[in-house]
Amino acid sequence: MNESEERTGLGGQRVPVMECGIEEDEPPGKPRRHPLWRNVPKKQWDDWRWQSQNAIRSVRQLRELLPFTPQELEAMGELEAEFKLAIPPYYFSLIDVDDPNDPIRLQSVTSPLEANSSYELADPLDEDKDSPVPGITHRYPDRVLMVTTHVCTMYCRFCTRKRATMVRGGWDAISRDDERMIDYIREHPEIRDVIVSGGDPLTLPYNKLRFFLENLRDIPHVDVIRIGTRVPTTLPQKLYDKELIDILAAAEKVWIQMHFNHPREITPEVARVCKSLLRAGMPLNNHSVLLKGVNDDLATMRQLLRALLRVKIRPYYIFHCDPVTGAGHFRTSVWKGLEILEGLRGHMSGLAIPTYVVDSPHGGGKIPLMPNYLVSASDDAVVLRNFEGMLVRYQAEDKPTTVRRTPTRGVSQLLTGAKSVLMPEGSERMARRRRSVRTIAAQRRSNGCGPDVNGHAAGRGDGRAESRPRMEELLSLPVLAGER
Ligand code: SF4
Repeated sequence: MNESEERTGLGGQRVPVMECGIEEDEPPGKPRRHPLWRNVPKKQWDDWRWQSQNAIRSVRQLRELLPFTPQELEAMGELEAEFKLAIPPYYFSLIDVDDPNDPIRLQSVTSPLEANSSYELADPLDEDKDSPVPGITHRYPDRVLMVTTHVCTMYCRFCTRKRATMVRGGWDAISRDDERMIDYIREHPEIRDVIVSGGDPLTLPYNKLRFFLENLRDIPHVDVIRIGTRVPTTLPQKLYDKELIDILAAAEKVWIQMHFNHPREITPEVARVCKSLLRAGMPLNNHSVLLKGVNDDLATMRQLLRALLRVKIRPYYIFHCDPVTGAGHFRTSVWKGLEILEGLRGHMSGLAIPTYVVDSPHGGGKIPLMPNYLVSASDDAVVLRNFEGMLVRYQAEDKPTTVRRTPTRGVSQLLTGAKSVLMPEGSERMARRRRSVRTIAAQRRSNGCGPDVNGHAAGRGDGRAESRPRMEELLSLPVLAGER
């Protein structure tokens, strides 16, 4: 046992992992508990108050649980004076303590890299500049953001609103503005969708949460109340409380906007609260933030999206990580985001595909990005690409195809109309099509009818050939390499 194992009692407790570092169990896997809390009775463990009271809130507590170098501890001590820290035992238990680059640890544990800010900003999205009333950001025509608290159950190290949530003393309590925020929404009939956020609105005292939700419910032009929360991710026990579910359900217009970034966050506890929320009539969506070292690879992102669907959460957005002070080490390139998106669309169920967005500087709002599927265009057709790399001529208007006779090759042939499709070599789909055509042909032969393998129709016995598709028609698709 090494020093860290002795401190934490984690020796011999490793969960089997695959080469990519992800547990073998598909999430939601098994409940996990760090040995420090091994003997806590289940009733207490499942109690959100106990989880909150026992959250790790200091570097002093962290050093008992994770190995750090003296230099790291010194830097973390300085950061602690500036930024809050909170990790409930449940969420901490998801960390592999032997992996300094563990994706749960990266999201929740103070890193010395947070001191390395250069070009990042305190308010990268200019939310405060688009704020007609303290707490409200009105940017889009029909929706507003309403910030109701600065408290969170876990302080995400990359938080865009860090200036309000994590910075110590960064924001006054804004309860004096509660009425003003509601009045603003009431006075603006164009507002249809209110994103109730924070901090985390599910940390609000219940009477305060009721105040917001009942008022919003009673405004006729508000159709949707979106609760933006990481409570299901970091403290799902809070949603074991039936009173909280009832408060949310009573507001009738509530949608839950969750925030999961890694497949390991989808646990049996999360599955349980998703069931409760769905039974109470609330649709569940997720946004993720693209974070270096956490989820910036295709395999992890696919696993996360599949896990979300398994518990009936619809993936909605992947946000590019904002340039917020102290979070530069989480930022990847936009190309990385596009590379991941290229591996999702077409490869996975459409239900699993989120929109990848960059939240623009200067308050420009969300700008969706995706790989290019429009390859070329002429006056009467466009050339589109699918996920396999197939290039297809697509004529949207209702007019006859005119084939221009200009000798040409490749994509240009699709524009002239000489060809309608170019298929990449080695297409799995075409191979499947060939196999099924051969199977059908074999069945027809054994029944004494249908085309033979060369596509010649068998006689019916009455002298006429059957009018079935010829084999060439079923199989004919030119290949991109070595065009025919
Ligand atoms: S829960 Fe949301 S608001 Fe709170 S720290 Fe995390 S990202 Fe920021």
